[in-house]
Amino acid sequence: MSAKVIDGKAVAARLSEQLADEIRAFTAASGKTPGLATVLVGDDGASEVYVANKRKRASAIGIADHHVHLDGGSSADEIAATISRLADDDAVSGILLQLPLPHGLDAGPLIDLIPANKDVDGLTTLSAGLLARGEPGLRPCTPSGVIELLDAAGIEIAGTRAVVVGRSALVGAPLAQLLTQRNATVTVAHSRTRDLADVTRSADLLVAAAGRPGLITADHVRPGAAVIDVGIHRTPEGLRGDVDEAAVAEVAGWITPVPGGVGPMTIAMLLRNTLLAARLQQGEAI
Ligand code: NAD
Repeated sequence: MSAKVIDGKAVAARLSEQLADEIRAFTAASGKTPGLATVLVGDDGASEVYVANKRKRASAIGIADHHVHLDGGSSADEIAATISRLADDDAVSGILLQLPLPHGLDAGPLIDLIPANKDVDGLTTLSAGLLARGEPGLRPCTPSGVIELLDAAGIEIAGTRAVVVGRSALVGAPLAQLLTQRNATVTVAHSRTRDLADVTRSADLLVAAAGRPGLITADHVRPGAAVIDVGIHRTPEGLRGDVDEAAVAEVAGWITPVPGGVGPMTIAMLLRNTLLAARLQQGEAI
């Protein structure tokens, strides 16, 4: 068998076009332009590239750019003051604090200064609570990107047996909640799971978000399963995921490539969250 490849780049491009139309309509109706504030602290090379990409993609669909670049030696108080200023600025719909922060800074309390209705990364304690309770709110970008990809590929979620490998607050834990809310029966596997392959082989829907290159082999996959690879690793041969793509493609029914699978969806969901945040600030329900 050869798995169908889910083209995340194409799905993200379609979604961005749709969002551009929705933003035009929103601006025409409200007189407001959605704005995204990206806050970058220090000059970590990878973070600079990620932020530049987010800003470019946002500007391309009509989102106003409110970038702030703070010195790597900034104190927690200085970063907090910037976030509070952006929180009070009506032109700013969404605030994203790029992670990781320079060594010695605790991200959690700073993230929690972002108001829930501007929390476009969906990472504040309040947003996490709203997700846990199944109440409306802004959801973390990578997990919602996975759900969107499954929907775009026409893969059934309700009633399936899903296994999420990884339990981070960024990806694994919120994704397990989103899949449960879509009526999958979800198992979360992690670094202390015994006999991982035995667990993952039960999955109709297998998501790898462990941050371990090539962890998921053909032996971990039930024939015909949908395999979503969240992992990203820079290797001498280029970007690779948590899934041994060539071998798993022989067994799985669907597979996402790395690059070009989940990655592009993460930014598309950030853009969607920025529009949702702008709607929230207009008093609209989302
Ligand atoms: P993390 O290190 O915070 O969490 C990894 C999780 O995997 C942990 O819960 C751990 O228990 C589990 N794990 C580790 N080794 C394991 C093993 N051998 N077997 C089973 N479980 C194991 O990482 P994260 O932030 O959740 O990111 C995971 C991966 O996803 C990374 O490769 C990261 O680069 C990638 N990522 C991609 C995107 C994207 O846009 N595609 C976004 C965020 C993260």
